[in-house]
Amino acid sequence: MQTDFSPGIYIVATPIGNLADVSARAAAILEAADIVAVEDSRVTAKLLRHLGLHKPMRPYHDHSGERERDDLIAAAQQGVVALVSDAGTPLISDPGYKLVRAAREAGVMVSSAPGPNAAIMALSISGLPTDRFLFAGFLPTKEKARADILTEFKPLRATLIFYESGPRLGRTLAAMAELLGGSREAAVARELTKRHEEVVTGSLGDLAAQYDAQTPKGEIVLMVGPPVEQSVEASEDDIEAALLEALERLPTSKAAGEVAQRFGLDRKELYVRATALKSRG
Ligand code: SAM
Repeated sequence: MQTDFSPGIYIVATPIGNLADVSARAAAILEAADIVAVEDSRVTAKLLRHLGLHKPMRPYHDHSGERERDDLIAAAQQGVVALVSDAGTPLISDPGYKLVRAAREAGVMVSSAPGPNAAIMALSISGLPTDRFLFAGFLPTKEKARADILTEFKPLRATLIFYESGPRLGRTLAAMAELLGGSREAAVARELTKRHEEVVTGSLGDLAAQYDAQTPKGEIVLMVGPPVEQSVEASEDDIEAALLEALERLPTSKAAGEVAQRFGLDRKELYVRATALKSRG
């Protein structure tokens, strides 16, 4: 395992609930770090203890002043500065963006020990399409601002991923069912990598009804599948064009799956058509 690291800023991903998920490289960078920039020193102290490390920690948030940022950048010109957040990948609904931007502007090396991220883990086990997705972090709490964003996202042919809290889940699902349509597929991923991990799937309408009277505990990722276009509106030419376009990007089975989802058609039938189109060249 590498132990000598060039000076710079290292974005170090940490576990999202299970300490065993810290990578060997993340541990090596933390061990080599001259400074660990943290969101909450109590949370990071726990991780460092788990790794048998004792390191100088410095609080960092994007609303920290330029002075704190400049200090970290100056330190990263001489030594190893690791940035961690409380959980998962820093910068993803967490502090770090302004630091990385300023470091790049100052010509400081920026690298990362990639690792856990709740959005990607949730997507990968949801059963929703993964070829195109849009991560949107936390929705605004104000009703009008939330409705504006959902209306903007409605036509996007992508799986939508949001971070959410238990107490807000029911209201968010109800707004989504109303604005995006109750029949859209969705999934609620909860307590990932922890003892009570679960993924509940269903239509937005069903999930809104289920969580109307139930406030789930723990941390949540909420996902909504792409809109399903009605097959009655799609002509044979539209379907063939969509298949040809998808075949340029994807293997046959995935192309058939994507077009089936998009037009609400049978996946096996489209697989046969896609195979025929492919062999026609
Ligand atoms: N940077 C983190 C990442 O890479 O996933 C996300 C930080 S954000 C402040 C925290 C939110 O991420 C939580 O409110 C929840 O929506 C989601 N989250 C974090 N850990 C989770 C887990 N174990 N299970 C489900 N969602 C989680």
